Amino acid sequence: MLATIPSATLLGVEGRPVAVEVHVSQGLPGFTLVGHPDPVCREARDRVRAALLSSGLTWPMKRVTVNLAPGLLRKVGPGLDLAIAIGLLVATGELEADSVAGCAFLGELGLDGSLRRVPGIVPMVGVLEARVVVVPFDCVAEAAVVGRMRVRAAGRLAELVACLRGDEPWPGPPSASAAAPSAAVRPDLADVRGQPVGRTALEISAAGGHHLLLSGPPGAGKTMLARRLPGLLPPLVGDDALVATTIRSAAGEPLPPGGLVVEPPFRAPHHGASAVALIGGGTAWMRPGEISQAHGGVLFLDEMAEFPRAVLDALRQPLEEGVVRVSRARASVSFPARFLLVGATNPCPCGEAGPAGACRCPDAVRQRYNRRLSGPLLDRFDLRVVVSRPDVADLLGGPPGESTEVVAARVAAARERARSRGVTCNAELSVGVLDAVAPLTDAARAILEHQLRVGALSGRGLHRIRRVARTIADLAGAGDVVDEDHICLALGLRADVVAPEVAA
Ligand SMILES: [Zn+2]
Repeated sequence: MLATIPSATLLGVEGRPVAVEVHVSQGLPGFTLVGHPDPVCREARDRVRAALLSSGLTWPMKRVTVNLAPGLLRKVGPGLDLAIAIGLLVATGELEADSVAGCAFLGELGLDGSLRRVPGIVPMVGVLEARVVVVPFDCVAEAAVVGRMRVRAAGRLAELVACLRGDEPWPGPPSASAAAPSAAVRPDLADVRGQPVGRTALEISAAGGHHLLLSGPPGAGKTMLARRLPGLLPPLVGDDALVATTIRSAAGEPLPPGGLVVEPPFRAPHHGASAVALIGGGTAWMRPGEISQAHGGVLFLDEMAEFPRAVLDALRQPLEEGVVRVSRARASVSFPARFLLVGATNPCPCGEAGPAGACRCPDAVRQRYNRRLSGPLLDRFDLRVVVSRPDVADLLGGPPGESTEVVAARVAAARERARSRGVTCNAELSVGVLDAVAPLTDAARAILEHQLRVGALSGRGLHRIRRVARTIADLAGAGDVVDEDHICLALGLRADVVAPEVAA
């Protein structure tokens, strides 16, 4: 007897349909699994066998061949377990072929017959063409995000078989509390006392999509500021929300209540994390990295100079293109990775370098530390600001700053103006349109000319300054023309935060 059960596997953040063909015939008892399974997928035999026996079902004493088609596609992980088990039951006649018609199956099996969650349910369900998809209970919310088909769920294989046979009704949806963690409260900008420069830079960064580097001693509140940036960004909608949801699902992380990821994510990987964890990939499973999980939100690199040089270099391509390509021996995949980069750095290893001059680091150490951030990556930051420790008076009872809600409203208005120029934010404005959408007053032009003449600004730097100045003008509600005040502020927010002479 032959049975074919639709299922899917994961390649990066994309699902790929898989047809699980199970053939049972007379002959020496045995089980062969073909069709390019990875080692984890190959172990399905042992899991399926134990799960069937634990569920009171029979393991056929016959010749069993399972083929996972298409053969050239590598099948990763245990997600095909359930489809293999169902295929076996149909091929041996324990289940009627009619009872599974139009159904696709996804899920891992435990030895006790329980159904377990697998990563990537959203993209995998997305490529299925079945009318009904059957998943483990833990995956119902993820499967429902796709919304095209009926989602059925079960907790155990025995239960599922009873439902398919029509002996038992399908169980209702699980209680909401078990399905998803409750949403965390976002930190508010009103908690930040003082810090006028940091707040201004944060607002401009959010409004224009400008990457931001914060430099300052420990305790200056760099992390506190960065954590409040996602709250200023507009919520994710449409395709952006679906892509962010797909990435989170493919990474095996739980989805927020309601399924769709609508809050811009905030990811803050530690500098000790592996390159694979940050960029993506892996030998067993091509998992999206931190930079992809930050897609649509903020990637915060604290103590940026401590990150391995190779990781920082690997950021340049996604910063340019919004995707990261990861190649391994067995596969090459692209992960979406369009994020707002916020870096934080101490001015030197001890953190005390700067105008106050309490630094005790040897010159060579300080210079080596700063060199790690020099060059092309530093150039990607449109905003580079120095933040200092807040005033004692501010900490002890200064007036609370503007709230996230107030600033986010200005950011939304500025982004609305950017949209009228055909981009989502000003950082995306191409060089060719700058003269049209950000014309300069004579005074503003003179300032830039001077900066170029004395070598304080490169050609690329000039365009970045003009984009930031456009954002500043938008936030100020100014007209179409960018004036000298906007240019001066943009220049002031692009300090040489890590140049050795600052620390001297
Ligand atoms: Zn120092």
